[in-house]
Amino acid sequence: MPKASKRRTRWSQASVEGRAPAFPGPIWGLTILGSLSLNLVTIALLASLYEGHGLLGCEAGSSGFVAEPEKAVLIAPPQSSAEEVEMVSAEEISVSSTAGSRPTSKDAIINLDHGDPTVYEAFWKRIGERGDIVFPGWQSMSYFSDASNLCWFLEPEFAHQVRRLHSLVGNAVVDDGRFIIVGTGSTQLFQAALYALSPPDAAEPMNVVSAIPYYSSYPTVTDYLRSGLYRWAGDASTFEGDAYIEFVCSPNNPDGSIREAVLSSKNGKTIHDLAYYWPQYTPITGAADHDIMLFTVSKSTGHAGARLGWALVKDKDVAKRMTKFIELNTIGVSKDSQLRVAKILKVVSDGHELPGNKHRLFEYGRRLMSVRWRKLRAAVKASGIFSLPEFQSSLCRFTGEETETYPAFAWLKCEKEGVEDCESFLRNHKLLTRSGRHFGVEAKYVRISLLDRDETFDLFIQRLLSLR
Ligand code: PMP
Repeated sequence: MPKASKRRTRWSQASVEGRAPAFPGPIWGLTILGSLSLNLVTIALLASLYEGHGLLGCEAGSSGFVAEPEKAVLIAPPQSSAEEVEMVSAEEISVSSTAGSRPTSKDAIINLDHGDPTVYEAFWKRIGERGDIVFPGWQSMSYFSDASNLCWFLEPEFAHQVRRLHSLVGNAVVDDGRFIIVGTGSTQLFQAALYALSPPDAAEPMNVVSAIPYYSSYPTVTDYLRSGLYRWAGDASTFEGDAYIEFVCSPNNPDGSIREAVLSSKNGKTIHDLAYYWPQYTPITGAADHDIMLFTVSKSTGHAGARLGWALVKDKDVAKRMTKFIELNTIGVSKDSQLRVAKILKVVSDGHELPGNKHRLFEYGRRLMSVRWRKLRAAVKASGIFSLPEFQSSLCRFTGEETETYPAFAWLKCEKEGVEDCESFLRNHKLLTRSGRHFGVEAKYVRISLLDRDETFDLFIQRLLSLR
């Protein structure tokens, strides 16, 4: 894999995610004036103004909440030159794109920059009220869930359903000795893990690394507070040193590869991010048994909006320090979310365990992802200007069948002569993706989410087929 290009375009200058600048003034006016009620859109935009960098640096839901699609900003026509397109910023485009909503026309701006898992919405609609949960007004008022548990804000029913689901799928060891730490998404958990693994009194911050192409949030989230405890140190494959924390994401975001740690040292630590180690994306080849394993409901069931993840942790002191981080950071994790997700996980396990139940999430997800990958590979082949990684199939212990890998993202390489910046090339065709630069590699690569709704995915395939 080639090394990262240092070049930055005028589109995206600030963070490694490269989505930093705030919304420009006129769009603010347009959006806020246009939306009389204080709805989620307005809240999201206000929050981004307040933060001074927008929601744009986030992995999910980062930019394109659409207030009024009909008042979309003008963007350059598909055939315009790079110079013309630079007149309009990425943020302006993404304000009027499909993020979080359905496309309104066949030439809509398609936003597949974030891995927003709306693909699962149809499944949960079919589940109907079996997925519902109602809270009495008096419930879940205390900060505490179980004061006797090391992780005192962990809801016992949520923990039970987590163990049950892992035992059913067989993707991770969840024996009694393993601590479950709940977090506000696995994004909070990987920060908790960095805090827990970094010595508090070291002279220098701990080096945090991951092999390229790495998940684009690792560098930005590691460095955004300029912690004295840890700092981003780049590509694990070229790291020289003995003390480090290595993120191992498997299957990997962005390229879907199955990974192991590339470094090994007595002072080195690993955090295994297993967000995509679920049967809809990859064969389950065994129960993962690492020191710290992170999972998230965002990619397993699609409930990214619940903001819930969990860590399976072997070492008691590490588990304690992670709990401390979450206590300092948010004094626990929403009980409402934990109870809601407990119900969701229960429905998933019941679906696979109870005889005669037709609603099997992993089967549904797997079928859907295999169809999407078939369409994607056919479109890429027909275009002649892109390529995709190939994957080997393996025996999945969950399904008992030889199955292929169907990653949540397409890691697309632009092979067209003269095109060095694939993100810009696709943006000129109203397709918003995330450049390889954010993942530590060349701009010839882009990551494209395959987890959007059918309408958006199908439009994306049509758009790809129109490119030459
Ligand atoms: N790790 C990986 C590899 C991811 O892709 C994501 C979401 N894109 C996360 C962590 C964060 O997930 P969450 O929504 O739970 O914060």
